[in-house]
Amino acid sequence: MDFELTEELKMLKEMAYKFAKAEFPAVSREFDEHEKYPAELRKKAAENGLVGAWIPEEYGGAGAGILGNTIITEELSKVDMGIGLCIVAATFGSESIFQYGSEEQKKTYLPPICAGDRVCAGAFTEPNAGTDVAGYKTRAVKDGGDYVINGNKMFITNGTICDFMVAQCITNPEEKKHNSFSLIIVPADAAGVTKNKIHGKLGIRASDTAEIAFEDVRVPQSNLVGKEGQGFRELMHFFDTTRVMVSGQALGISEACLETSIKYVKERTAFGAPLGSFQMSQMKLTEMAIRIEALRGLVYKAAWLIDAGRPDYHLAAMAKFFGGQTAVFCANYAVELHGGYGYIDEYDVQKWYRDAKILELYEGTKEAEIMTIGRTLQAKY
Ligand SMILES: Cc1cc2nc3c(=O)[nH]c(=O)nc-3n(C[C@H](O)[C@H](O)[C@H](O)COP(=O)(O)OP(=O)(O)OC[C@H]3O[C@@H](n4cnc5c(N)ncnc54)[C@H](O)[C@@H]3O)c2cc1C
Repeated sequence: MDFELTEELKMLKEMAYKFAKAEFPAVSREFDEHEKYPAELRKKAAENGLVGAWIPEEYGGAGAGILGNTIITEELSKVDMGIGLCIVAATFGSESIFQYGSEEQKKTYLPPICAGDRVCAGAFTEPNAGTDVAGYKTRAVKDGGDYVINGNKMFITNGTICDFMVAQCITNPEEKKHNSFSLIIVPADAAGVTKNKIHGKLGIRASDTAEIAFEDVRVPQSNLVGKEGQGFRELMHFFDTTRVMVSGQALGISEACLETSIKYVKERTAFGAPLGSFQMSQMKLTEMAIRIEALRGLVYKAAWLIDAGRPDYHLAAMAKFFGGQTAVFCANYAVELHGGYGYIDEYDVQKWYRDAKILELYEGTKEAEIMTIGRTLQAKY
């Protein structure tokens, strides 16, 4: 057993952090305040091999695997989780193309994302069904050689800036719920697609989030990803990978909270002594550090297992659940350790506190993760 990262992964980690440190701070606050999407930064990140790094080289990626990509996500999130998300989630949705798509689909859709020229979106959630994945209503009806799609999608990351999306649609309504869905590629500029940006998010405000409507949208049947009627299972498998990457965000932002807090308690004094000399401060830092160490083990192992061809959906859900909890926990303590200064935008912890909460909501709420683990845990032992 070896807990050391390989030399390649260490270099990747260092490079990703250096990139974020050099590029993000100058624009971080502006992009957060004005909900600006960092298109140029995404392109620059792509030139450095940071977009779609998990994608094998034959499809334009860096071939860094899920562990490599998770480490990139961690490092970018240490500096600005919102901007980092815009970079690593340019591939969001395309994981299913890689997992289930035809060779032609992989060759068409994956390389331009890695090059920073195209962005994908995963359009699953609907206004009336999020956690209840089998409750989606969007329909795709066969007509000639096409599917005609009608329905609404909600909270779609990259919604207004994407070039194409992978949408979950009902194609086989006569089948039982879980056998009725299919994943279909929809070009963002297809006639009948309407996109409305959602404003006023609590955090990750650089990230683009939108409501999408499909009204008689026609796409060729060759845009089907995987097998008709298997979309539900394919989406669950998709989450096994993307949840691990999201837990990388949690790891990065938690580490940032700890490191920044340590620096602050060494500098700030009260009652004639540094804050860090008080046991109550030490307790907070210690609790953060313990959680971060535990999270790192969970996240890296879950990612490593995917690369080893043995994805473990329990571990993925655990990493995502514990990641969200750790990030919110660490951001809360970071604000507290900064006192009143933590509550204003003079320090980054105020933003991180807002950013962290999404990690308990998207890619499955913390309750959804518990359901995923709880349903089958007893059968495992
Ligand atoms: C910024 C942002 C970006 C997002 N990006 C995307 C994206 O790119 N693509 C996409 O498809 N979706 C995306 N989402 C949607 C996100 O995944 C959903 O919001 C999330 O899954 C929850 O669904 P919901 O909002 O409909 O809440 P609901 O499903 O209505 O849940 C509300 C509450 O009830 C709880 N709950 C629901 N069912 C149960 C149950 N059986 N037992 C116990 N508790 C339950 C939930 O855990 C939650 O606390 C994004 C959301 C946000 C906010």
